[in-house]
Amino acid sequence: ILKPKKIQQTELSDVFISVKTTSKYHTLRVNLLLKTWYLLAREQVYFFTDSNEQELIVNLGGHLVNTNCSSDHSRRALSCKMAVEFDYYMTSRKRQAFLFVWTCLWFCHMDDDVYLNVPRLVEVLRGYNYKEDWYLGKPSLKHPLEVVDRDNPGMKLTFWFATGGAGFCISRSLALKMAPYAGGGRFVTTAEKVRLPDDCTIGYIIEHLLKHKLTVIEEFHSHLEALWLIKPNQLKKQITLSFSEYSGKQNVINIQGFNDTEDPTRLLSLHCFLFPNFNECRHLT
Ligand code: UDP
Ligand code: MN
Repeated sequence: ILKPKKIQQTELSDVFISVKTTSKYHTLRVNLLLKTWYLLAREQVYFFTDSNEQELIVNLGGHLVNTNCSSDHSRRALSCKMAVEFDYYMTSRKRQAFLFVWTCLWFCHMDDDVYLNVPRLVEVLRGYNYKEDWYLGKPSLKHPLEVVDRDNPGMKLTFWFATGGAGFCISRSLALKMAPYAGGGRFVTTAEKVRLPDDCTIGYIIEHLLKHKLTVIEEFHSHLEALWLIKPNQLKKQITLSFSEYSGKQNVINIQGFNDTEDPTRLLSLHCFLFPNFNECRHLT
């Protein structure tokens, strides 16, 4: 009798995590990540930035990638970074038994103002077969994006996309299918053609060009949602959380821990709530 083939269980080492950042955020944002969730996924995380900052290189070595993209918030600069993230993922390698090496099973993108609950991400990914096509994330719009169809003048096309600031994940099988539109730097060409930001362009490629649907995962959160509404007893099961620092009302999670001066983003307090044994948490009583 043939036993059913065992489906390989996703491990952290199967997940490639890219973090998009820029020089001006190295000090505040990247340093916060470096003392919190990054420590739980060191080998898997790559930072994509726009300069060679010596101090970060010492810390991160080959895990700091200077994309040579320009350091502004323009559509072109941001899609240039996403293009490099995608190509890095495609050349990522995980060593398997018998020395077979494959691209990591999952490509997950994060912004640098995201807290990633690493074990929770792995747990959720285990629920999806990496051999199938999966686009996992969360839209921040309540409706699909509607844009003019540049291939059919006068027509509109609509599709959903996962907000980049909430983090999203793509299975290897789907990433391979995206390669004609996203690999080898072609992501920039695609983004320029549709004139959309990088995260919308990902949605355009997957939903419109490849006809594959976004799977909405409620546990991804960007600062485009009201983060203070998440119940403290629900925080443990969330995959990503974020903050925004605009003047006026702060959009941060509601959690006890460090005071607002020590931890304005609340992400350090979140980290210590999830992982109280960390060094950074010893001052918390
Ligand atoms: N970012 C960048 N270049 C810039 C500004 C921002 O690469 O000039 C990155 C930033 O590091 C972050 C993402 O783009 O990962 C989103 O930036 P931010 O949170 O400042 O703006 P948002 O779009 O969320 O309002
Ligand atoms: Mn942001």
